[in-house]
Amino acid sequence: MYETPKCSVKGCEKSATVEVLLYDFYAELPEVRLEQDFTCPFLCSDQLVENEQEAFTAVTKSELTEWIEDLQDILKQGAPPYSRE
Ligand SMILES: [Zn+2]
Repeated sequence: MYETPKCSVKGCEKSATVEVLLYDFYAELPEVRLEQDFTCPFLCSDQLVENEQEAFTAVTKSELTEWIEDLQDILKQGAPPYSRE
């Protein structure tokens, strides 16, 4: 029988609602990699909110905007060439 994993935060007995994945984007490749966060693989909804708030204070708004612009450029360049027939 499948058991819902428990939240990985110490002292928290809640059932996990999410599996934490680290999102890596390599602009040079371009490539996106998802890896499980082994230090804290599962989070309940409470810690998920905390985790996201922390994640967004780690980068400034301008850094985030720059990152999104880079990503958009790569997406545009990465599109298959249009060929007329
Ligand atoms: Zn928790």
